[in-house]
Amino acid sequence: MNEEKVNLKAPVYIPDSSYRDYRWMGDYETVYRESVENPEKFWEDIAGELEWDKKWDNVLEWDYPDARWFSGAKLNITANCLDRHVNNSRKNKVAIIWRGDDGCERVFTYRQLFREVMRFANGLKKLGIKKGDRICFYMPFVPEHIIAILACARIGAVHTIVYAGFGSDSLHQRIVDSEAKLVITADVSIRRGKRIDLKSIVDEAIVNAPSVERIIVYRRTKPEIELYAEMELDYYSLIKGESFHCDPEIMDAEDPLFILYTSGTTGVPKGILHTCGGYMVGTYYTSKYVFDIKDSDVYWCTADPGWITGHSYLVYGPLAVGATILFSETTPDYPDLGVWWEMVEDFGVTILYTAPTAIRMFMKYGESWPDKYNLESLRILGSVGEPLNPEAFEWFYRVIGKSKLPIVDTWWQTETGMHMITTIVGQPMKPGFAGKPIPGVVADIVDNEGNPVEPGKKGKLVIKAPWPSMMRDVWNNRERYEHYWNDIPGCYTVGDMAVKDKDGYIMIIGRSDDVIIVSGHNIGSAEVESALVDHKAVSESAVVGIPDDLKGNLIVAYVILKEGFTGGEKLENELKYHVRMTLGPISMPSDIRFVQSLPKTRSGKIMRRVLRAQEMGVDPGDLSTLED
Ligand code: ATP
Ligand code: MG
Repeated sequence: MNEEKVNLKAPVYIPDSSYRDYRWMGDYETVYRESVENPEKFWEDIAGELEWDKKWDNVLEWDYPDARWFSGAKLNITANCLDRHVNNSRKNKVAIIWRGDDGCERVFTYRQLFREVMRFANGLKKLGIKKGDRICFYMPFVPEHIIAILACARIGAVHTIVYAGFGSDSLHQRIVDSEAKLVITADVSIRRGKRIDLKSIVDEAIVNAPSVERIIVYRRTKPEIELYAEMELDYYSLIKGESFHCDPEIMDAEDPLFILYTSGTTGVPKGILHTCGGYMVGTYYTSKYVFDIKDSDVYWCTADPGWITGHSYLVYGPLAVGATILFSETTPDYPDLGVWWEMVEDFGVTILYTAPTAIRMFMKYGESWPDKYNLESLRILGSVGEPLNPEAFEWFYRVIGKSKLPIVDTWWQTETGMHMITTIVGQPMKPGFAGKPIPGVVADIVDNEGNPVEPGKKGKLVIKAPWPSMMRDVWNNRERYEHYWNDIPGCYTVGDMAVKDKDGYIMIIGRSDDVIIVSGHNIGSAEVESALVDHKAVSESAVVGIPDDLKGNLIVAYVILKEGFTGGEKLENELKYHVRMTLGPISMPSDIRFVQSLPKTRSGKIMRRVLRAQEMGVDPGDLSTLED
């Protein structure tokens, strides 16, 4: 790999003094050093804040590339997300506030949520669902979704949640791969005032899926759709008459908790397996310390439960810390572009966790929408999913954060289960950089041989030590699991390219699969895209490399313009020049294509492989995760 220098100039934002004395365990450098010098003590101390039925024999058994965390320990994650709070002062605290697409609201206290979870858990038991059975979810964004997830975990069944925007083929693939015994779905999901039929998609998906014995249908609209009595069951009939008490199944720390398929941005989705103990510790730790969630917070994560962000930071992590969670079926642009900011004002949201794709969409339509609302309740902002380019960072910081709020740009993956690299509230921030590895995480940037590269040089991002919430396997694909660990011996290779500055701040410059080699230089897609978005006319962009005899590759850039700008030769030249001035001549695109939209996964990530295939007239590969 050619390790050329990267432009690392970035302003440093020091959080407002009131954020400096936040609740972190101590000063970062000290805590970090202690965490890597004695990782077992570090993780054991965190695990000790939670409730276990039996404590572990060993904190870590590391048989590369297999880790067993808290082996011998017994627990149930729901006992920490529910019982622990109900049995203490949080009994009547609001656990979830839900807002539907039509604006209706529902609120559950911890006690209410607890009871509903136990009742549904009893319903599942009545159907003969046992520990280890897989349950596939294909649910809209309603409270019953969260209730069912927790009920599943309560009885030790393994959930595999499929985002309800996927088509029947994708759902079928996941049901078959995970051999789900039960599917939990609803009649419809409601998006932008329109009903989207879910049940008929499930009907198609279970054809030739012999593992499926039953389907539970949550019917939310009238007249109720008909159910086929042999196999299908109404959500409410299932729980009718069931007791509101259900003891948690006592799980081994290493028992499976869930299987979740990755976003499919770079290829065929992988069924990532997470286990009970380590995942609980990792999501609890990061919810408490990265987000600094306190009892007074109203925490809003805009992700759907169907993504890892929904699993870790909508459901398990925040509930483990006893947070008040807002979640909403609302799309950010319906009924208008002010609806999210109206919700921040209405509910007094204090922590907002969202994705760059949403931020860039808001940027495109300007500041007047958020400016209509009072956003004073906000105290922390978060981002996840793709690199938060400096332009989007600045906008989020200035327009939503009023130039004082901390932004945590959290880098992590389905595979990592929890945040890995981010600034933590109170640390200085640098736009374009996610930040440093959090305590307990040993991350580095290396060349192809695994040698650390010096600051300013590009390389592969790797994790050099096991962490509790790491994936334990790829479902039905041991080889793929080992592949993550074989690329660079001794390391978990994440598949992203990155660069570090002299302070140790890490900038993600793109996916390894999306790197463009021009005249022997590695150009990260995110580098060029950030430079383009930095231009006043550009709202979003994606770049790909097209093979070229002379240079190896040519860079082609797809560009979406902001309102009020039109594409043309003049602007094309201006944009090329802008990239040239920002990054140098090698990174300058040879072609710019002005487009209205970009191919994205259903979780909002740009799928560059689709653009590349289109440019080259070849097969784009697995398209199951592509948004319509
Ligand atoms: P697939 O692995 O199937 O291609 P995916 O990688 O998009 O899909 P996820 O696990 O949802 O699946 O996403 C993790 C990836 O998202 C990371 O590897 C990284 O590329 C990107 N990512 C997530 N958060 C950030 C962030 N804060 N900054 C930069 N990139 C991020
Ligand atoms: Mg990935």
